[in-house]
Amino acid sequence: MPGAGAPDVRHSKVLIIGSGPAGYTAAVYAARAALAPRLIEGPQPGGQLTITTEVENWPGDESVLGPDLMARMGEQVRNAGVDVASDVIVEVDLTRAPFLAVGDSGTHYTGDALIVATGASARWLGLASESIYRGRGVSACATCDGFFYRDRVCAVVGGGNTAVEEALYLTNFAQKVYLIHRRDTLRADRTNQARLFANPKIEMIWNAEVAEVLGDGGGVTGLALRDTQSGAMSQLAVHGLFVAIGHDPATALFKGQLHMDGEGYILVTPGSTAASVPGVFAAGDVQDKLFRQAVTSAGMGCMAALEAERYLAGHNIQSAVDGAEADLLV
Ligand code: FAD
Ligand code: NAP
Repeated sequence: MPGAGAPDVRHSKVLIIGSGPAGYTAAVYAARAALAPRLIEGPQPGGQLTITTEVENWPGDESVLGPDLMARMGEQVRNAGVDVASDVIVEVDLTRAPFLAVGDSGTHYTGDALIVATGASARWLGLASESIYRGRGVSACATCDGFFYRDRVCAVVGGGNTAVEEALYLTNFAQKVYLIHRRDTLRADRTNQARLFANPKIEMIWNAEVAEVLGDGGGVTGLALRDTQSGAMSQLAVHGLFVAIGHDPATALFKGQLHMDGEGYILVTPGSTAASVPGVFAAGDVQDKLFRQAVTSAGMGCMAALEAERYLAGHNIQSAVDGAEADLLV
C-alpha cells in the first residue's frame, strides 16, 4: 500500500500506452509471452477506428464496423489477462529505469520495457473562424455529427481516404455534399474514388482551400474559398464543414525524450519498432506516416511486443512488483 501522499505505483514488465490496433495487438502478444503487460487506454479507448463506420480491409472480415472491431480486440486483450487501465498518460520519464509514465489519475505506471502506441489525432485548418464554430457546424467526425445534417448542405475539406469516406457517409443524411480539395487529384484509393464519383449527391470543388468559415454567431452559414491556382475568392453556402485533412501523431509527451522527425513522428530503427531509447518501442500511426492502416498498425504492435520480449530477455531485467517503487533498479 502506498504511504500517505505517496503515489500509487503500478509496475509491469511491459507497459503499453494506447488502445488502438497497435496497442491491443502488442498486448495480446506480450500476454501470450507471459510478460503480464499493462495497457493504458488513453482518451480514445479503441483508437481511431471507433469513429468510423464500415472497415472493409481488415483481413477475415469483408465488412465490419470500426467500433465493433475494436470492441472485439479489447475483449481479446482482457481475456488474455492484460491489465487494462482507464487512464491518460500526462508525463513520461524515459531517462530512468524502469521507465515512468504518470497517469491523469495520479497513478505512476512503471515498465521495464515501454511500447508507445498513442496513434494520431485529427488535424485542423488553423483558422480562427474554424475554432469559433467547432462543435457548432465545424467537425472532424462525420460519424459523430453527420446526423445533424439531415437534408442540409455540408462540405468536407481534404483529398485522402478519410475525406472521401466522410463525404460518402454524409450523403446518408445531407441533401448535398461538397468535397473541397486543394489540388486536382485525390490522394484517396481507387475504390473510394470510384464510389465518390458515382455518388450524385457529391460535388467536387477542385483547387480550392477554405479561407474562412462564415457564420451568424450561432452556427455555420458558409465558407469563403480561395482558388489555389488563381487566388480568386468565392463563397459557398453550407450548414456544416467537416475537416478531414489528416492527423498529427500524439507524441507531445515524448518530445525531447525520443528522436522524432520534423512532423513529430517517432523515429525507429528501420525494419524494427525500436525507438531512440533502448527498451522503448513505437508501433502504429505514432511512427508511421506512410501506411497508416489498422492492419499495419496491428503488425507493428506485434513486432513491438516481440522486440520487447527479446529486449527483456537480453537485459536480464529484474522486475519489481506493484507499489514497490523504492526497490526498482535505477
Ligand atoms: P490509434 O487507433 O490512433 O489509437 C491510439 C491510442 O492511443 C488510442 O487508444 C488513444 O486513447 C491512445 N492514446 C493517445 N494519447 C494517449 C495518452 N496520452 N495516454 C494514453 N493513451 C493515449 N484504417 C484501415 O485500415 N481501414 C479503414 O477502413 C480505416 N478507416 C479509417 C477511418 C477514419 C475516420 C480514420 C480517422 C482512420 C481510419 N483508418 C483506417 C486508419 C486507422 O484507424 C489507423 O491507422 C489505426 O487506428 C492506427 O492505430 P494505432 O493503434 O496506431 O493508433
Ligand atoms: P491523408 O491521406 O494524409 O490525406 C490528407 C488530405 O488532406 C490530403 O489530400 C491533403 O492534401 C489534404 N490536406 C492536408 N492539409 C491540408 C490543409 N491545410 N488544407 C487543405 N487540405 C489539406 O489523411 P487521411 O485521409 O486522414 O488518411 C490517413 C491515413 O488513414 C491514410 O493512410 C489513409 O489511407 C488511411 N485511411 C484508410 C482508409 C481506408 O483504407 N478505407 C480510410 C480512411 C483513412 P494533399 O493531397 O494535397 O496533400
